[in-house]
Amino acid sequence: MSNTLDGKVVLITGASSGIGEATALALSAEGARVAAGARRSERLEALAGKAPGEMLALDLDVTDQESVRAAVGRTVERFGGLDILVNNAGVMLPGPIAGADVSEWTRMVETNLLGSMYTVHAALPYLLERKGAVVQVSSTSGRIASAGNGVYAATKFGVTAFSEALRQEVTAQGVRVVVVEPGFVATELTGHITDPTMRDTARRLAASMRTLQPGDIADAVVYALTQPEHVAVNEILIRPTDQT
Ligand code: NDP
Repeated sequence: MSNTLDGKVVLITGASSGIGEATALALSAEGARVAAGARRSERLEALAGKAPGEMLALDLDVTDQESVRAAVGRTVERFGGLDILVNNAGVMLPGPIAGADVSEWTRMVETNLLGSMYTVHAALPYLLERKGAVVQVSSTSGRIASAGNGVYAATKFGVTAFSEALRQEVTAQGVRVVVVEPGFVATELTGHITDPTMRDTARRLAASMRTLQPGDIADAVVYALTQPEHVAVNEILIRPTDQT
């Protein structure tokens, strides 16, 4: 028998656009009470306004431990607990290693890797209480590194490593850990790329295929979270059919 999300409390990071926004809406449509966090609060307010269920817009910067703790605290205060963390906030700033602007490396590591670790750390006591779940949005770049993508891939490999260790630590206590590894999804992610060659490559790649849509990833997250409690979907690799 599948597991309903009705009334479950979800905190999702990076919910102001793309995969996070689509996943927040999909989980809300399944009956979950959703705390949607990101830095662009006006977008979150608009999202909460159109969500089918109860949604809390949360000002959240995952690189700031204080902000992460406050977001978890506000979620628990509003909804009385926490069942599911969807760790989705991320940035991708590719470029060659030689001559790189290393402040972009810092941003990626602080957001994609440290930020997602801080969020797990703050949420875990509540997830353990409720035998909850953690969804970690990694990437195909968490499995395959490629030229120009070294640091982003390093952060996503790191997410996978952290997730496996977390899984081993909490699975006996009933907490499920899901790593989702999307291929090319049409979102704002590539819009932040500063390297002109990389930006062109991303544009050409997008034009060359039927990309995934954010809702495709949201569907995968809903699938993993609605399995019976004894079933832990630990990893989902999901690519556009056209992506080689
Ligand atoms: P978007 O750029 O649309 O979304 C990124 C989200 O992360 C935004 O909501 C942004 O919100 C949030 N974010 C960024 N920095 C922070 C921060 N410091 N604190 C809180 N939130 C932050 O891209 P996607 O939807 O594509 O990306 C979502 C995740 O999916 C990322 O982890 C990405 O690496 C991953 N992914 C994406 C793929 C793709 O092809 N699009 C493929 C594989 C993985 P705000 O700016 O308002 O804070």
